[in-house]
Amino acid sequence: MTSKNYRKCSFCGREAKDAGLLISGISAHICQHCVEQAQQVIEQEFAVKGAKKIPSFKLLKPAEIKNHLDQYVIGQDDAKKVLSVAVYNHYKRINKAKETNTKIDDVEIEKSNIVMVGETGTGKTLLARTIAKMLHVPFCIADATVLTEAGYVGEDVESILARLLQVADYDVASAEMGIVFIDEVDKIARKSDNPSITRDVSGEGVQQALLKILEGSIVNVPPQGGRKHPEQKMTQVNTNNILFICGGAFDGIDKKIGSRLQANAIGYGIKTKNPLDRENLLQYIAPQDLKSFGLIPELVGRLPVLTYLNPLDSETLRQILTEPKNSLIKQYKKLFEMDNVELVIENNVLDFIVEKAVEFKLGARGLRSICEAIMLDIMFEMPSQQEPQKFVLTLDYTRKQLSKTNLERLKVAS
Ligand code: ADP
Repeated sequence: MTSKNYRKCSFCGREAKDAGLLISGISAHICQHCVEQAQQVIEQEFAVKGAKKIPSFKLLKPAEIKNHLDQYVIGQDDAKKVLSVAVYNHYKRINKAKETNTKIDDVEIEKSNIVMVGETGTGKTLLARTIAKMLHVPFCIADATVLTEAGYVGEDVESILARLLQVADYDVASAEMGIVFIDEVDKIARKSDNPSITRDVSGEGVQQALLKILEGSIVNVPPQGGRKHPEQKMTQVNTNNILFICGGAFDGIDKKIGSRLQANAIGYGIKTKNPLDRENLLQYIAPQDLKSFGLIPELVGRLPVLTYLNPLDSETLRQILTEPKNSLIKQYKKLFEMDNVELVIENNVLDFIVEKAVEFKLGARGLRSICEAIMLDIMFEMPSQQEPQKFVLTLDYTRKQLSKTNLERLKVAS
């Protein structure tokens, strides 16, 4: 019989003194190192076979999703409605698959990836981020402009999934239920009017590569991101249940929409019942406009839900300043409150901030830069005050502070 001193690991042969913790079974022992190694083998095996548990979450109804969005995003009602329904259907489809633990038996519900068209700074990212937060699923933002075809300088499309894995703490099952926001998808449009015979490495090639991950397939992802290389260990990610939301400004697409609508009206020889709102043609966007812009038809087909965002007018900007649950003004008040300072902002100050944002075409992002410029001095001084204080932000003070700032510079920064 093995006496206590002669015990060794039955797997690697390490003696008790070198084994760290040595766990004894009926007729064998296992050391700490082998337990750890075995754990890794199990994890890898499960990751490869995809035999993971699907995380569960509470699915809200479309109206509830929209209500939630209303708390954080001002306006954009059409986009909110379309997104709420698409997200609800997407996760309902996953829940159903989970219940039956197989593919959906009779009617297979197709994935509803989304594309949002709208000027920069109108809330596309904010909408996607708010939905992901609400559902408690991993969320990442990928910039389509850095993607190139494999083999060229830039990032492979798989790097998008690497980022999602990182956000999900390398929990593959959770990443596979995540949401990816692909920003500036318009920048990978085919440059059809470019007669160059060189390859379009950041255009059509990238669109082709994106197709594969968008449609739902098992993709080999280099977990640390970067370029794939042969010796690298890959993690397999099934993109079937990942919701892709693409966004882009699609500058100039309104002209394509306009000419399509014009052609239709002439073609059918009829006048539309409702006169066209020529100021905002984006609301009439249709999949064929994305094609005329330069997205390949296959990619447009993989993005079946299409919606648009309205440009922000001064009234909306004013609401953005004060109304969302975590609006800028609420955030500043909170920050001041933490230093025992009550911040009071006069109404005309808010109008002035919006006026400047519009004048310098800074959009919603610019609101923040303007507020920072106004608040800098006071935020520098207030924390040193000993007694509780009240600070009233007046129009005079605001003008004075802003006159020190070059708003043109903010335009570049925002
Ligand atoms: P996009 O993705 O369309 O370029 P973002 O969603 O990143 O724009 O918007 C930039 C910032 O502007 C957001 O973080 C948010 O603070 C503000 N913002 C833009 N649009 C809205 C909106 N409709 N409601 C509330 N805040 C908005």
